[in-house]
Amino acid sequence: MPELPEVEITARRLDAALRGAVVESAQAPGINALKTFDPPLSALEGRAITAVGRRGKQFVVEFDDGLALLIHLMSAGRLQLYDKRAGPRDRTSRLLLRIAEDADHGPRELRLREFGTKQAAWVKLLPADRVDEEELIATLGPEAWPQPPDDLKALLKAPRPLHTLLRDQRVIAGIGRSWVDEILWTAHLSPFKRGNDLTDEEALALREAIATVLDGALEHYERVVKLPIPDKLPLPLQVHRKAGEPCPRCGETIEAVHYEDYVMCYCPAEQTGGKVLKDRRLSRLLK
Ligand SMILES: [Zn+2]
Repeated sequence: MPELPEVEITARRLDAALRGAVVESAQAPGINALKTFDPPLSALEGRAITAVGRRGKQFVVEFDDGLALLIHLMSAGRLQLYDKRAGPRDRTSRLLLRIAEDADHGPRELRLREFGTKQAAWVKLLPADRVDEEELIATLGPEAWPQPPDDLKALLKAPRPLHTLLRDQRVIAGIGRSWVDEILWTAHLSPFKRGNDLTDEEALALREAIATVLDGALEHYERVVKLPIPDKLPLPLQVHRKAGEPCPRCGETIEAVHYEDYVMCYCPAEQTGGKVLKDRRLSRLLK
């Protein structure tokens, strides 16, 4: 699932490439992708793109005369810019914006594509000044980056595990399953520590870890991510998806807890006082 750093680097690349470009035509081949009907997608034809930005993990593509596309990639979507047009058989296409040729470019196409079997990614075409009123956007917590919230301790003051709290977009926007593992490992904090058990010192370490980890990911992407935006971004991960490998800091084996649709990784020596947390998948199988 693309998280803040992946969406941010994509928005930066697309903004640099598309600012001022004019939409020639717009289509939504995925039957479920477009969630609004007024104005119709054809309202974008002939309009210039004025900005590509992000709110949390969502894209906002703005057009002149005050229209905007709000795009949610869900777990398997990608927003990519190609020099060629998609063939009619590209089953991954959910939204296609054909970009008119200009002095510097041939015909280009901005594509929302989705991998896997589910059609979950979605798009809304809205008046630009209504984007922030959309429930998903209006209920977002403060952005995790570039400045993590100052009052992190107050923000996380709930009897819920940090691993859950930090991924709750209504608490703090932008962090998901991959980066939460990296952030908690960087802060030397247990994923199951309750938010309301954080000391001042731990809250500071966590705030610093959020900044360091997300900055680091973006610096990495600035060096390696180019258009059209690869199907798989090269996530610079140290613990997430590294179960069984040695911890890059202390050498202890990274452990994992498997949930139905994701896996949580941590270093027991540095995060849980040596305790290996119960793997729920394993205990379910043993029942
Ligand atoms: Zn370690």
